[in-house]
Amino acid sequence: MNDSKPLACLSIDLDNQWSYMKTHGDAGWEKFPSYFESLIPRVLERLDSFKLKITFFIVGQDAALDKNRKALAEITKRGHDVGNHSYLHEPWLSFSPAEKIRREILNSERAILDATGQRPAGFRGPGFSWSADMMNILAELDYLYDASTLPTCLGPLGRIYYFSSSGLSAEAKKQRRKLFGSFRDGRRPVKPYVWLLPSKKRLLEIPVTTVPGFKLPFHLSYLNYLSLYSPAFMTHYLGMAVKLCRLFGTGLSFLLHPLDFLGRDEVPELAYFPGMKAEKSDKLRLFDKVIRKISGIFQIVDMRTYAKVSMDQSRTLSLRRAYPKPPRRPRNSNEAAHE
Ligand SMILES: [Zn+2]
Repeated sequence: MNDSKPLACLSIDLDNQWSYMKTHGDAGWEKFPSYFESLIPRVLERLDSFKLKITFFIVGQDAALDKNRKALAEITKRGHDVGNHSYLHEPWLSFSPAEKIRREILNSERAILDATGQRPAGFRGPGFSWSADMMNILAELDYLYDASTLPTCLGPLGRIYYFSSSGLSAEAKKQRRKLFGSFRDGRRPVKPYVWLLPSKKRLLEIPVTTVPGFKLPFHLSYLNYLSLYSPAFMTHYLGMAVKLCRLFGTGLSFLLHPLDFLGRDEVPELAYFPGMKAEKSDKLRLFDKVIRKISGIFQIVDMRTYAKVSMDQSRTLSLRRAYPKPPRRPRNSNEAAHE
C-alpha cells in the first residue's frame, strides 16, 4: 500500500428494487424485482476504470435467488469484498428481539458465502438501523466491524420527505420510525471507534462519514441531490467535506447506492427518489468527478482492508459503550432513603 496518503474506504449498499419498494410500501415487491443484471456489470466496469476494489454490502435474500447469483458471483471474481446487509432488508430490524437479529445476520451470511464464495467481515444495518443487541451479536459472531451508523441530524428530515411520498399506513410508519436514524444519531462520532460490549469481544465501528464539525451527509446520493439544484455548489460542498476530513483526521468511509448509477428512465417504479430526476450519463459523470476528488487526497481501499488497518492501530481508537451505563447502586438503604 502506498503510505503517503491516508486511507479512505468505499462501499456500496446493494439495495435492490424490491427492497426499496418494500420499505416504501409499494405493491409487487414480493416478486423480488431486480436490476442487478444491468447494475452490477455497470458498477464493476466503472470501478475497474479507476482500478478500485471496494465492499459490496449484499442483502441475503438477493444472494439466495438464482436469478441474481451470476451477477453477484462476478463481484468476488473481480477481486471485490463483500459485506452483510441483513437477510430481509427491514429497517425496523433494530427493534427486533435478539434471536431474530442473530437469525437475520446468520441467514444472510450463509447466502452471501454460498453465492460469492466469501464470508462477510462486516455488517451494515438496513436504513442505518442499529442497536446495542445488534453490536453484541455481531461481536459474538466474530464480525470485524459494523458500519451501520450515520452520524447526522438530517436523517429524520429525510424520513419525513420519504413518508410524504409513500402510501404507508400509520402502523407501517411507526414500524419504520428509525428509518435513516434519529436526531440523537447526530451526536455520534464521525471517527471510527471500538464498541464496549458485554461479550468482551472487540467490534470496530466505521460510521458512514458525514462532514466533520457539521455532521451533514455527503454520500454520493446526497451529492447527486445537491447537483440537481446547483452543480457549482455541490463541487464546493464536496471540496469542503473532503478537506475537513483530512484536517480533522477522521479518515473517510464513503457510501454509494445503486440509484447513483441508474438513470431516471431505467426504474420508473422508484421515480419518487429525488435523485431519480437525473440522467444516467450525468450520474456516471458525477461518480467519476467525486472519485477523482477523493483519490487525490486519500488512498481508496475496501472496508475489510480499512478495518484491519484500523484495528492494527486500535490503541489510537476511542471506546464507546453500546449499552447505557447501569445506574450506580446506593451505598446503603439509609442513604437511598435520603436521596
Ligand atoms: Zn440498504
